[in-house]
Amino acid sequence: CAAAALVVRHRIKSSGKWARALSILTEFEEKCGTPSSKLKQVADAMTVEMHAGLASEGGSKLKMIISYVDNLPTGDEKGLFYALDLGGTNFRVLRVHLGGKESRIVKQEFEEVSIPPHLMTGSSDELFDYIASALAKFVATESDSQHVSPGRQRELGFTFSFPVRQTSISSGTLIKWTKGFAVEDTVGQDVVGELTKAIERAGLDMRVAALVNDTVGTLAGGRYNNPDVAAAVILGTGTNAAYVERAHAIPKWHGLLPKSGEMVINMEWGNFRSSHLPLTEYDQALDAGSLNPGEQIFEKMISGMYLGEIVRRVLCKMAEEAAIFGDAVPPKLKIPFILRTPHTSAMHHDTSPDLKVVATKLKDILEISNTSLKLRKLIVEVCDIVATRGARLSAAGIVGILKKLGRDTVKDGEKQKSAVALDGGLYEHYTKFRTCMENTLWELLGEEASENIAVEHSMDGSGIGAALLAASHSQYIEVEEP
Ligand code: BGC
Ligand code: MG
Repeated sequence: CAAAALVVRHRIKSSGKWARALSILTEFEEKCGTPSSKLKQVADAMTVEMHAGLASEGGSKLKMIISYVDNLPTGDEKGLFYALDLGGTNFRVLRVHLGGKESRIVKQEFEEVSIPPHLMTGSSDELFDYIASALAKFVATESDSQHVSPGRQRELGFTFSFPVRQTSISSGTLIKWTKGFAVEDTVGQDVVGELTKAIERAGLDMRVAALVNDTVGTLAGGRYNNPDVAAAVILGTGTNAAYVERAHAIPKWHGLLPKSGEMVINMEWGNFRSSHLPLTEYDQALDAGSLNPGEQIFEKMISGMYLGEIVRRVLCKMAEEAAIFGDAVPPKLKIPFILRTPHTSAMHHDTSPDLKVVATKLKDILEISNTSLKLRKLIVEVCDIVATRGARLSAAGIVGILKKLGRDTVKDGEKQKSAVALDGGLYEHYTKFRTCMENTLWELLGEEASENIAVEHSMDGSGIGAALLAASHSQYIEVEEP
């Protein structure tokens, strides 16, 4: 009898815990809700902030940075150009041989180098010396036939994926770091100056011809392949967008009106914030404990650096308050950023009937074993809620841009096509995120407008785009052969 009572008590206790876990889940799901009506408000708020950011410097949380790119690639670009793409945990060096209209990209080579974590929070010289020496090594692999003509300097397009106040096509000062970088003495410096000094220290003869954000590079790379590309979005470690604006719609631009009448704007949408965003206590805690509290709020709800961390925080709460992993909170689960988005993505995509992948990830990363199937399902639910919210918010952001461009609706049966170039690890590898983002886009735009909008993956567009922009801003004027 005593034994039976114990069993019953245990049942009641465990169902009480389970009920608590479910109520945490339900509450989280409600707070993360993104019905169409809410997303439309987010899109409208994005459009409003775009106007404000274009009106005056500091007019909005959206910096709407003037990129000095007023011409996008045409296909005529020719010659051998280098690119350096620095943005997340890796950087890439590229060598691109451009052959003009007929031959297009004759050859491209690249190398990827990972950045030792200590350099992400060290000194500016150390970081840029590391980059420049990798670049020098790569340049040394040039074949004889690739040498630029004698007396001609090598030229580089520098993709630098952080907020930079551009002062020309080839200069700009770092406003702040994002995505886990915190090299304090670079802030306020001209990043091209920093790189050029390091290039000189490495004994390399090379000139930075263009400084671009990765979104601007992706836009350039996308346009090279498709003339309909009007905007580019990065969904990766961080998130951001760039698009082509009419120059006279930029009141804060006091320079000469470009011949093209256009100017590419780097929105820095990661810093977008609005009362319409479905923020939760977990987002607030994540932000407070981050390297950049109060900043990049949109990015912290969407991008790859943070999705896994939000999941971890929810699981932590469930472990503390509903003892889902037993009486003690697993020590590893308490470590910030231990659960990365690739892990939660793998769990989210687990199709095995017993959720083997979830079990393996829990064991390998968090040292949690013996989880029930019911619990593993709960964890997949958490991953789903977090990814769905991020994907749907990014779709709302894109709709905001299309609205600003007047391309979110079909006017008088007009059939102007617009394409959005997308890149970034989240878009490329997190299938459920990508599918949800695209479906949400069609949901928000409606059938008719959707027909005129295409979303395309611009693979490694940011590096090639930078090389293309280096070509069009080369100090050597290409003389067309007669
Ligand atoms: C940066 C942007 C960048 C984006 C995607 C953000 O954290 O602020 O400049 O474009 O990440 O890499
Ligand atoms: Mg990148």
